[in-house]
Amino acid sequence: MFENLSEKLQRSFKTLRGQGTITEENISDAMREIRLALLESDVNLEVVKDLVEHIRVKAMGTQVTTALSPSEQIVKIVHDELVTLLGKDIAKFRTASQPPSVVLMAGLQGSGKTTTSAKLAQWLKKGGHRPMLVSVDVYRPAARAQLAVVAKSTGVNLYEGKLDESVQNGTPEVLRLAKEAKKEAANFGCDILIVDTAGRLGIDAVLMDEMAELKKLLNPSEILFVADAMTGQDAVNSAKAFNDLLTITGAILTKMDGDARGGAALSIRQVTGAPIKFLGTGEKPDAFEPFHPDRIVSRIMGHGDIATLLERAESTLDKGKAEAFAKKALGGQGFTLEDFREQLRQIKKMGSMKSILKMLPSVGPFAGMAQAAENVDESQFTRVESIINSMTNKERQNADLINGSRRKRIAAGSGVTVAEVNNLLRQYAQMSKMFKTMGGGMGGGMKAQQRL
Ligand code: GDP
Repeated sequence: MFENLSEKLQRSFKTLRGQGTITEENISDAMREIRLALLESDVNLEVVKDLVEHIRVKAMGTQVTTALSPSEQIVKIVHDELVTLLGKDIAKFRTASQPPSVVLMAGLQGSGKTTTSAKLAQWLKKGGHRPMLVSVDVYRPAARAQLAVVAKSTGVNLYEGKLDESVQNGTPEVLRLAKEAKKEAANFGCDILIVDTAGRLGIDAVLMDEMAELKKLLNPSEILFVADAMTGQDAVNSAKAFNDLLTITGAILTKMDGDARGGAALSIRQVTGAPIKFLGTGEKPDAFEPFHPDRIVSRIMGHGDIATLLERAESTLDKGKAEAFAKKALGGQGFTLEDFREQLRQIKKMGSMKSILKMLPSVGPFAGMAQAAENVDESQFTRVESIINSMTNKERQNADLINGSRRKRIAAGSGVTVAEVNNLLRQYAQMSKMFKTMGGGMGGGMKAQQRL
């Protein structure tokens, strides 16, 4: 997400490089480029107009300082304006003073509402809450069944309830189920009830009336609009329609892992006045994160998102194993192919190599890494792992054992060429040597020297 916008903005900043001062004239080229970059990223036209005007006015009013060049000043102004557009702080998740708090999930069919309800429940559970899920989509039994499946897989409480088939009009059934679920949540000691509602392919009057009735009945502390980021301006328009009727308290943008151009993310808050609260970044239940405006702006500005990367590492990596590895590898004992395989597995747990590289800054020492992400061959990691899997335990402990005939056997066992096995062993030898040298400077020197 945002790679395109980020790239285009970098280009527009370049038009200002080398200019001595900011003038109406030299800034207008950069402004044109910025406007184009935003429009091509599918940002709402009104939002673009406002944003560009703010940037222009601020840029013109900026005192020329010796500390920053004109292009650096514009970069800073664009950064600050984007942060203002998205909201300065993380929008808090609101709860009622009297539990259970109710979260009403709104959105069109296919936006990811059911998946997101389960993701939110899991996120709340991890944060120490006791959530309960209910689907009041009495029109589509498959939707209720889908929620039951995801609730089970994440271990979150679910209120299933029973439908009365004889009721013709859906809304009374919807309201009855919702009321029962709230009571059940209270009886069960659940502090948050997440209500997954019926979606439609488009905005329709019956759906909207039903949502309004649910709001009146449940007095929710959150009404979250789930928007499919891939649908760009359509998502913004439906967010507006839902907001006009329900006054949403926030939005969740799903499918941010796809190649959405980012326009929806940059427009929703301005158009509805409601903040984006979470992002969906994949189909799995844990592909979900609170929305940090400053981190997103950092990504857009090409500065990467190291904070999220570190958090991801913290929550997925096995700290004990990582420390043991560092101690062993840098302590002069060297590291084995077994350790190498374990490191690969740990990295894989953090997500695809592509998604990791994309979070690195595209300027400065990591320049080019984010772009290189496009060419990463994820299958390469699996191939390396399968080569190591085809070795015996003894070989993994002592790579010196792996002679010509063993290399042939390993290649055949893992379905690769002998050249690939050779390549891996060469890389391993280089890394092993590098660690020993590094360890030498860290107190493990003597032992490392003896082994070399
Ligand atoms: P609903 O009709 O609004 O309840 O939508 P669903 O929850 O059934 O989701 C529709 C499709 O989008 C499903 O195939 C989900 O797996 C998928 N989906 C939901 N959220 C995300 C996301 O953040 N990333 C990706 N890649 N897919 C998602």
